[in-house]
Amino acid sequence: MHTKQSFSRRGFLGGTAAALGYMGLKPTPLWAERSPPLAGGSLFQQEADEYDALAKLHFNENPYGPSDKVLEAMTYAFKYSMRYGYPDNGVTAAIAEHHGVARENILLGAGSGEILEVVGLTFLDHDKKVIGVDPSYGSVYRHASGIDADAIKLPLLDNYRQHIPAIIDATKKHYREVGFVYLCNPNNPTGRTVTSQEVQQLLDGIPEDVPVLIDEAYHHFVEDPEYATSIPYVLEGRPVIVARTFSKLFGMAAMRIGFAIATPEMIQRMRPYSTGSVNALAKWGAVAALEDTEAQERVRRITLRLRKQTTSELESMGYNVIPSETNFFMVHTGRPVNEVRTAFRDRGVAVGRPFPPMLEHLRVSIGTEEEMGRFMTAWKEIFPVRSTMGSERG
Ligand code: PLP
Repeated sequence: MHTKQSFSRRGFLGGTAAALGYMGLKPTPLWAERSPPLAGGSLFQQEADEYDALAKLHFNENPYGPSDKVLEAMTYAFKYSMRYGYPDNGVTAAIAEHHGVARENILLGAGSGEILEVVGLTFLDHDKKVIGVDPSYGSVYRHASGIDADAIKLPLLDNYRQHIPAIIDATKKHYREVGFVYLCNPNNPTGRTVTSQEVQQLLDGIPEDVPVLIDEAYHHFVEDPEYATSIPYVLEGRPVIVARTFSKLFGMAAMRIGFAIATPEMIQRMRPYSTGSVNALAKWGAVAALEDTEAQERVRRITLRLRKQTTSELESMGYNVIPSETNFFMVHTGRPVNEVRTAFRDRGVAVGRPFPPMLEHLRVSIGTEEEMGRFMTAWKEIFPVRSTMGSERG
């Protein structure tokens, strides 16, 4: 494991780390409560207060934030705030080592969102198209249309899994037009995985020069033994790009850091399209985050526990939940989700947006225990128990 951090605990804001004391997984860590006076006065203050008061279950975030060690590393890196060039704590080497690949296999991005865009810019030139399922992480398709490329979107199976033979057939059929295949694994918004056997089937079934972008943003939450990361395909030299993020398990969404793992040739093709705009704090924080396995395990454990608790309760009330391998789940509400969303918002709970064509399914991110309690209280108000208990309402 990469350990290049030479800063001392004492150096961290004169020991404020201990005082701020990242509180493990307490619902409201101290740092979350501190609010400096805001420029712009009461209007922005009110906005910030309203945001802080919401149960935020709409963006699949990690509600606990960066761990104590990550905060410490990021605070240390503030001393480089005024620099263009500075030591980056060997972030690329740390990521490479952690994943068993070489530095040449890594491209950093300001979030994995940037990586997805870079893949689009690199491989969707000359009117090429992206192929994938719908619904999935839509920004890939939106970015494609933003750069005047097209998307071939295939429906999910009835059990909300991805239809691998259909992706293979469509890729073969449109071979000359296909820029890349997008596979979100596990998929957002459904939370369902593609098994390692299916990934193999896909890669073996499509023409061997078609790039496949495999988005593993939620990799760390998967328990399904039939799932596996696709990084080994990169080492085999296949045209596979694995996208990963520090936004989810590591709680660094607002810091903006993610990365691609691909063959050195593909990384070189992609690099000119990347902004190189990952900031110093994010780089130092990312190295510390990879090392802090204890914090990773804590977040994973509580997230999975709260997901199971919430989904079991909904199921026991008769609602159908799509089995999820992520830090969110989808439940069938039987009502237009926009209406349901407004009803939750009125109760101070922000839940997921509609994901056409699944317009009666609500996506709920796993927040803190307190937030999940507020979600269930609101649910029971919005969906009062009917007299015909036991009948399926989902
Ligand atoms: N990929 C998937 C599947 C996501 O759900 C998200 C964010 O929610 C991203 C990529 C982008 O994450 P980030 O840009 O924060 O790394």
